[in-house]
Amino acid sequence: MNGSSKRRPTRSVRVGEIVIGDDAPIVVQSMCATKTRDIDATVAQAEQLREAGAGVVRIAIDNDKEVEALREVRKQTRANLAVDLQENYRLADKVAPFVEKIRYNPGHLHHIERDKTIPQKVEWLASVARDNDCAIRVGVNCGSVAPAFLEQHPGDQLEALVQSAIYHCSLLEDLGFERFVVSLKDSDPDKVLAANRRFAEAAPMVPLHLGVTEAGLPPQGIIKTRVAFEKLLAEGIGDTIRVSLTLPNDRKHEEVEVGHAIIDDVANGRFISVPDLKGLNIISCPSCSRVENEAFVNLAEDVREITTYASKYDVTIAVMGCRVNGPGETDDADLGLWCGPSTVTLKRKAEKVGSFGYDVVLDELRRHLDDLIADRAAGAA
Ligand code: SF4
Repeated sequence: MNGSSKRRPTRSVRVGEIVIGDDAPIVVQSMCATKTRDIDATVAQAEQLREAGAGVVRIAIDNDKEVEALREVRKQTRANLAVDLQENYRLADKVAPFVEKIRYNPGHLHHIERDKTIPQKVEWLASVARDNDCAIRVGVNCGSVAPAFLEQHPGDQLEALVQSAIYHCSLLEDLGFERFVVSLKDSDPDKVLAANRRFAEAAPMVPLHLGVTEAGLPPQGIIKTRVAFEKLLAEGIGDTIRVSLTLPNDRKHEEVEVGHAIIDDVANGRFISVPDLKGLNIISCPSCSRVENEAFVNLAEDVREITTYASKYDVTIAVMGCRVNGPGETDDADLGLWCGPSTVTLKRKAEKVGSFGYDVVLDELRRHLDDLIADRAAGAA
């Protein structure tokens, strides 16, 4: 693999035993989808991913019981571990002793500890990282941009996303903390392309973690990922990548294999010609420990199957595994589904239609898809 041939120069960021950025080989990452509290399953999956070539394995942590599980997982795996803190950045000091990298989402800082400012929260995160020899990932997502930036850039979500990331870079740099990488993700590969290009131009020294969130089931999920990654990597943008595919746990390592294949193809000039992505677009999250019902992966597959009749329509259907990111990440889809323990919530854009049992939600989805198609036909007539 010669992923460094045309790479733009960046800072190098050490994450445990590996280096991200500068002229280090592009690092492929992945994330455990097992229940973090199931220590045996999480260790097995971390090892499965490491053995497939994952330089960093991410684990989601949302509460103290999961912190305790992480302590055990740490003892039993050789993987470089990153922890994903979404709504729970306050757990950072508890998890940092067991991991090599902490990911925080700038869009999830404002509504916790409202008496503290964002700079105060970032200062605390940087001090935790410093004290525990951890790197940081500033991970912004189109589905959860901090409201202050959306207000500053009305109608331009992409610019809000990029400016939010740049702001957090400056907060960290002003603290003298440079051991961080940035990711700017969305489920739309064109937005991922545009956001990363803009950011790379504005902050060329910051290593970039590339990802198309909720790319969905293979092979469509792989195609969407390639649309963004092939172009960015060929432009020298991207120091670490994560391919997010909806896969059952025993196939999760395929994310890593696909990531290495893309890097290898780009390094050797093999570009896959990308089909027109118009038509029915099903996005689904890659799942993680937050999934509350294991029927999620089957549901995503069933959604694809029962909607094939609508393949020529430009409709986006989002299928998400949990209530943490599901409600926000489905807002932009024409039809959205997010999974709870016993029901699935169905939405049309940001509006909730209702919550339905797993056995009936597909019928409801189909009814609303038919409505949507009929509405569009009426509008076009
Ligand atoms: S939507 Fe929820 S279950 Fe799916 S990857 Fe994101 S956090 Fe995990």
